[in-house]
Amino acid sequence: MRLLIVEDERKTGEYLKQGLSEAGYTVDLATNGTDGLHLAMEGAYSLVILDIMLPGVNGYEFLCSLRKSKDTPVMLLSARDMVEDRVRGLELGADDYLVKPFSFSELLARVRTLLRRGKSIDSHLAEVADLKVDFLKRRVSRAGRRIDLSAKEFALLELLLRRKSEVLPRSLIASEVWDMNFDSDTNVVEVAIRRLRSKIDDSSEIKLIKTVRGMGYVLEAPDTP
Ligand code: CA
Repeated sequence: MRLLIVEDERKTGEYLKQGLSEAGYTVDLATNGTDGLHLAMEGAYSLVILDIMLPGVNGYEFLCSLRKSKDTPVMLLSARDMVEDRVRGLELGADDYLVKPFSFSELLARVRTLLRRGKSIDSHLAEVADLKVDFLKRRVSRAGRRIDLSAKEFALLELLLRRKSEVLPRSLIASEVWDMNFDSDTNVVEVAIRRLRSKIDDSSEIKLIKTVRGMGYVLEAPDTP
């Protein structure tokens, strides 16, 4: 599969290109929006990874032009996490949205998901049992009851949901949600999981967040008997 990266920061672009090539993809890199758009319109790409702040044509303009004739999946990269940026990007037809700095493993997981799924309009919605999450509006409900989460609790839930049914080690959660190394003696992950559980799971018969002893945490619907 052929991927296109449009990123003007040379180091980031080269790093992504190398990582994705090693993961088995054929990767082209454009360092400005004008060249990137030309490639995207002419070539047959399975996915475009698109930085928003670009010289020449910026990410939003790129997306507008591309969507007039192509529905190639697009993952936006943004330097800041602003709800209005997400909304704008997704409304313009982006399929996913990743905030810098991100870990390569998360990017790769999302790339694989997008490629597997192909084109989907529901990428900002997730549903497990009676838990519903709208990543775009940052809205969470359980059995129709609205649940308010802090930013970190939401980030934690989002991570668990995006990698549903996968056991996530504490170290991975710490680096993805808090951007910290897990060598320290902190119990920040345990505390946050406890708080998230009290909001998500405590009032429900069906417990979605599970502890896998010695391994980490997983969010999944219980097996139906
Ligand atoms: Ca940039």
